[in-house]
Amino acid sequence: MKWLNRNDDTSNYEDRRGMSRGRKAAVGGGLGTLIVLALYLFTGQDFSPVVDMFSGGGGTQTMQVDPARANENEDLKVLSLGVFNSANDVWTEIFRQNGRQYRKPTFVTFTDYTTSACGGASEQVGPFYCPGDEKVYMDLDFFHKLANQFRAPGELAIAYVTAHEVGHHVQKLLGFTDQMQRYRGRVSERQYNDLSVRLELQADFYAGLWVHHAVKMGTIQLEEGDIESALGAANAVGDDTIQKQTQGYVVPDSFTHGTAEQRMRWFMKGYRTGDFKQGDTFNATTL
Ligand SMILES: [Zn+2]
Repeated sequence: MKWLNRNDDTSNYEDRRGMSRGRKAAVGGGLGTLIVLALYLFTGQDFSPVVDMFSGGGGTQTMQVDPARANENEDLKVLSLGVFNSANDVWTEIFRQNGRQYRKPTFVTFTDYTTSACGGASEQVGPFYCPGDEKVYMDLDFFHKLANQFRAPGELAIAYVTAHEVGHHVQKLLGFTDQMQRYRGRVSERQYNDLSVRLELQADFYAGLWVHHAVKMGTIQLEEGDIESALGAANAVGDDTIQKQTQGYVVPDSFTHGTAEQRMRWFMKGYRTGDFKQGDTFNATTL
């Protein structure tokens, strides 16, 4: 993947690399904290993840910055942020064409651990989007994992993951995320998992859509092996691939992201068509 016109804008970027929170740091006051403290005192367990949920963005916590880690994975940051900005440019245009206004999310990079409106997140969580604060959380070390453990190296693999997360933001703006929330607890687990698969496959479609338009807009140029690289990532994060690797067998009813084949196919559909309207996974009869 070659940048022809990379947008390095940092106005929607929050860099938390190298930041670590003090364990005894003051957290936001109020009833939530008191309840958490009471739990802590009675059980002696560490409830800091719960505290994170109450304190939200972590603005009230004291942060210590390790200067040695402040610029960790800088090349990966530049790449991922460039994709993030490009995806926002693409979506701004698609929304405009559909008579809507796009609101940009925020891109957050962190090392080891961070807090979000969706709770605390460690690097084990992997990249995620939090609808509550409209931020894409990216532990850049995940990309090393993707290349080595998941055996999906390459720049377009990283781009696919980044554009997929921006896709979740698009889903929030379009109301799909809220719809999912309303179903939670009201449908069977199997039905909810099916909706989750549809949401994830749509985000994969949106990632492919980004590639199509980023090329068309002259932001990137594809090189030999790029599409294979993105497909390698989609394949690696398929529910069946992961279940086979971790437990040795697959349980289709428990799938929440779709099979490797489905993820690759929806990515390719977005890439090939570039047509936003063809990504309606929620009404698709076959996935
Ligand atoms: Zn996802």
